Amino acid sequence: MAQASLSLLILLIAFTGFHRQLQVLSSEYDFSYMKSVYNATYLPPEEEYDYIVIGGGTAGCPLAATLSEEYSVLVLERGNAPKAHPSVLHASGSLANLMREEEEDVDDGDTPAQRFTSEDGVANVRGRVLGGSSMINAGFFSRADNEFFSKSGVEWDLDEVEKAYEWVEESIVSRPDLSAWQSVVKEALLEAGVGPDNGVNLKHELGTKVSGSTFDEMGRRHGAVELLNKGDLKNLRVAIHATVERIIFSTKTANPSAIGVIYTDSKGESHKASIRQNGEIILSAGAVGSPQLLLLSGIGPHSYLSSLNIPIVHSQPNVGKFMADNPRNNINLVIPFPYIPSTARVVGITNDYFIESASINLPFSPTSLPFGFLPTPSSPLELSLAVIAEKIVGPLSRGSLRLASKTDVKATPHVQFNYFTDPTDLSRCVSGMRKLGELLKTKSMDRFKYRDFNGARDFMFLGPTLPTNQSDDSSMEAFCQSSVTTIWHYHGGCLVGKVVDGDFKVIGTNSLRVVDGSTFTISPGTNPQATLMMIGRYVGLKILRERRELNYNGNSLSAIPQGQNYLGSHIKATCGQETVLSSCVCNGQ
Ligand SMILES: Cc1cc2nc3c(=O)[nH]c(=O)nc-3n(C[C@H](O)[C@H](O)[C@H](O)COP(=O)(O)OP(=O)(O)OC[C@H]3O[C@@H](n4cnc5c(N)ncnc54)[C@H](O)[C@@H]3O)c2cc1C
Repeated sequence: MAQASLSLLILLIAFTGFHRQLQVLSSEYDFSYMKSVYNATYLPPEEEYDYIVIGGGTAGCPLAATLSEEYSVLVLERGNAPKAHPSVLHASGSLANLMREEEEDVDDGDTPAQRFTSEDGVANVRGRVLGGSSMINAGFFSRADNEFFSKSGVEWDLDEVEKAYEWVEESIVSRPDLSAWQSVVKEALLEAGVGPDNGVNLKHELGTKVSGSTFDEMGRRHGAVELLNKGDLKNLRVAIHATVERIIFSTKTANPSAIGVIYTDSKGESHKASIRQNGEIILSAGAVGSPQLLLLSGIGPHSYLSSLNIPIVHSQPNVGKFMADNPRNNINLVIPFPYIPSTARVVGITNDYFIESASINLPFSPTSLPFGFLPTPSSPLELSLAVIAEKIVGPLSRGSLRLASKTDVKATPHVQFNYFTDPTDLSRCVSGMRKLGELLKTKSMDRFKYRDFNGARDFMFLGPTLPTNQSDDSSMEAFCQSSVTTIWHYHGGCLVGKVVDGDFKVIGTNSLRVVDGSTFTISPGTNPQATLMMIGRYVGLKILRERRELNYNGNSLSAIPQGQNYLGSHIKATCGQETVLSSCVCNGQ
């Protein structure tokens, strides 16, 4: 009897332990946050809040939600709401997000994935929608490696880190169903020696695992934007189409203090938002947007700002320095039979590189058929493709960011990542590509070969193929260099220890922090979004704790009394009457 109860207990612990870590989740979208979303054109020319978060992205949303538990918060996001871009709401739209501008061939200023090409010549994108890049990414969700925490320059409270990850995961992360292709990738990785099999696991451990996803089993995306729902929506105002131009400082104190921001709405009208006493401005505009805004606001290298005639608020030599992007090198197999598309769910983790794969169906229409020679295909052909990608750990190569305009924040800065300039990065890529070569030799992959007229079987590739002699370092290095592209995990520009301190406060200033990927020296784990969301929650709680201590010491304003709505009056005044309020909510307007 005792034995049976013990077994039951163990089973229960195992069951709840598993669920705490990763749930099977298939839930409808939760658009409750839309109650707090307003088109910036409806906001007054001047307002005051306790906290202003610049950028409603991957880190910005959980941060704002957390602060709104006790204080009034304004989020300023230059993009639109996700509902205005249905492609960001579903896995099936992922490729469309990356293709849209190609059709239009110009940046209309509103597409959710804003394109830019780095000075290295590599095409890249950045999120421009509420929820940020978490709304245009591939959904793969995996926690950071231990080294990230030990080397980040932050004194982490690891219990709080754990709770912050869980806070995110319980709401938006699903345990994925493995598609046929993802199962093949898992088998092949294990066969190629990337073991052990770590099962379904959000943690970063050497071997092969199935990780979480922000796509649920119906393919619905639950990005960082849904974390806004966890805040107190009464205290939260989210302005969309609100492009922050610069941060305003008071220089009355020994160190300059951030006191407000200037932003423009979609009609080009300028607004000013200020912070109340003991409030803060938090920059969460991403690895390109945050260093850009610091520079435009007069915080950056003295000689550089002087050369642009930008008034210097605080000389800070490292803003825009140490930019990095993890190179992606992949091989693309044309699959000889129709295959269901799948986003990455499996990862092979080694000390030097990570391997992930996605299967996609690309529309294919022959454009060079001889006139009248064959009937025009009545329906578009589809090409089933498996993209097997390798990302190196780190990277160690560093680049920098320069402004493209000293006045126009909409002009994407010039960014140079200097891929593979550090020899370790190159040798890691070579090891990773050799592993891809081994992967192709596994039994699991054999059925994806084509047979030619002579009965010989081989893979059909779209794009670069691995060198024939994979033991030759120089041809492997040349392959890495020539096939480099991005895995979109770029980071840096406002590094911890260089631009911000271990509490993410901008060194040499008051009331200003940076909380996003620009603070990272290395990319956390295999994929950064889990850690960015965790940090948003973690820093938000830290700020609330610090504020409570300040209030306890009898210093100043207390948090909003329970049950009171801090916001609303201004909006009603601006929109005229309460019934108009709903039309202030954007829904793409
Ligand atoms: C195509 C793609 C696929 C990816 N796949 C994955 C994946 O599968 N898994 C994973 O973990 N990671 C993935 N990533 C990386 C990950 O999504 C990003 O690293 C992460 O989302 C960045 O978070 P962030 O908070 O630093 O910035 P963001 O989420 O980009 O947020 C910055 C926000 O600030 C806003 N902003 C910028 N400037 C201003 C301004 N002046 N005024 C107002 N608002 C402003 C932007 O519009 C944006 O919403 C992918 C990225 C991309 C682009």
